[in-house]
Amino acid sequence: MTPHGLYTGRYAPSPTGDLHIGNALAAVVAWSRAHLRGGRCLLRIEDLDVARTKPGVCERILADLSDLGLGFPDDVMVQSARTRAYEAALQRLIDDDLVYACTCSRRDLAASAPHLGDEGPVYLGTCRHRAVGPSGVDKDSPHVSLRVRVDRLVERFGNPIVHDAWQGVFTHDVVAEVGDFIIRRRDGLFAYQLAVVVDDAFSGVNEVVRGQDLLSSSPRQLLLHRALGNPVPPSFAHLPLILDAAGERLSKRSPQAPELLRTLLQRASPPRVLGHLLHLLGRAQAGAEVSAVEFAARLDDEALKRPSLVWRSL
Ligand SMILES: [Zn+2]
Repeated sequence: MTPHGLYTGRYAPSPTGDLHIGNALAAVVAWSRAHLRGGRCLLRIEDLDVARTKPGVCERILADLSDLGLGFPDDVMVQSARTRAYEAALQRLIDDDLVYACTCSRRDLAASAPHLGDEGPVYLGTCRHRAVGPSGVDKDSPHVSLRVRVDRLVERFGNPIVHDAWQGVFTHDVVAEVGDFIIRRRDGLFAYQLAVVVDDAFSGVNEVVRGQDLLSSSPRQLLLHRALGNPVPPSFAHLPLILDAAGERLSKRSPQAPELLRTLLQRASPPRVLGHLLHLLGRAQAGAEVSAVEFAARLDDEALKRPSLVWRSL
């Protein structure tokens, strides 16, 4: 557990592909926040989706972070080794009458949904009568996903409001716009939403720094923190997304990936890459070279208070 008051952040890459420049920005900013506050930035490998985890990627991610001069504590958390903790959290939610088994197929979901939420159709609660528990459905029944009763969470804890360090106030009606979301998938894998909450709470993370694309997950995660009894959920700081010249989000799946961190590090020194990121944030001249420590020193909140920034090649 974290000593009270110690800043604890984290950087949590998925080993599904090499880091791109957006991931690098998240890593260096998360590291900088902790560095500036005399706290620590943990490293967590989010490899729950084993099928999408590629061999060798994890090692390359660690090497890239090290090349940038970002040091992390040695006890790297690996999600694939955390199943028992997720099971315990699931059981707690079941005991609290918050979980049911959903048997809907993808086609059922698409057909029944009146409108699309952030992550596909908003689920209407068709399977709510299939409560999981001693007198209900077995949580390990085949071919079911497990969903959490968002209506009950909001009834108990209110509809969360996120006061984001850089993106301002964010809220939405979780019941109407998200619906009962999946906490364990049909294939038995724990869902991202549950795993990150369990891990952040376990590690005493008190600020989550990550890309703006995850901002809309934050209200759900706050609800789960409350449901799992975390008295002090983390605060959030969502980074601007990095867009290409056409305004599209850079992603690991981009067909052409000149913006992979590895590629950049092959043609420019780490201080040059960090200097370029700082330049894109308007805090360094073009061509600047900075160390991770200098990056941290020049960073300020105003530089990050924007929804996106445009990538220019180094
Ligand atoms: Zn269902």
